[in-house]
Amino acid sequence: MTDSLKAYRAKRDFNVTTEPAGGQTRASDRPIFVIQRHDASTLHYDFRLEVDGVLKSWAVPKGPPDELGERRLAVPTEDHPMGYANFEGRIPKGQYGAGKVEIWDSGTYRNLRETGDEPASMNEALDEGKVEIFLEGRRLHGPYALIRTAGGDEPRWLWLQMKSDEDNEKS
Ligand code: MN
Repeated sequence: MTDSLKAYRAKRDFNVTTEPAGGQTRASDRPIFVIQRHDASTLHYDFRLEVDGVLKSWAVPKGPPDELGERRLAVPTEDHPMGYANFEGRIPKGQYGAGKVEIWDSGTYRNLRETGDEPASMNEALDEGKVEIFLEGRRLHGPYALIRTAGGDEPRWLWLQMKSDEDNEKS
């Protein structure tokens, strides 16, 4: 298990919650993403991207942007284990994040910054605060960006749609 999962484990009592304690190998040879609808004390959506064997995670109060020009606040949260991508259920009362979790969308993604003039790995993109990905999900299918707008102790990101080739053809 990766050290980056320390915060995840510290927040949870695995004798009580049904959330997974660890990772899980995946069937796909492409990295995966998942969006979980989480009806906790405040309803939000958790957006998670597989990077180097863990799920990088953001809490998105208003959910994914559903049209070009919309920017959705995305607050980074602790890395989650790969096994979390399949998690659905009710986190018990008194536990961190108590409430119902449902998978809203899932699929694979491509790192669009790998194909540019100066290719960046996902880790570099995260460090730079500029992630550009093509989501291949059941609901979301197209190019998206996550842009860091504030750093320090309270980093904030924005999640937005990028123009696709189809959009370029229309305009
Ligand atoms: Mn959550």
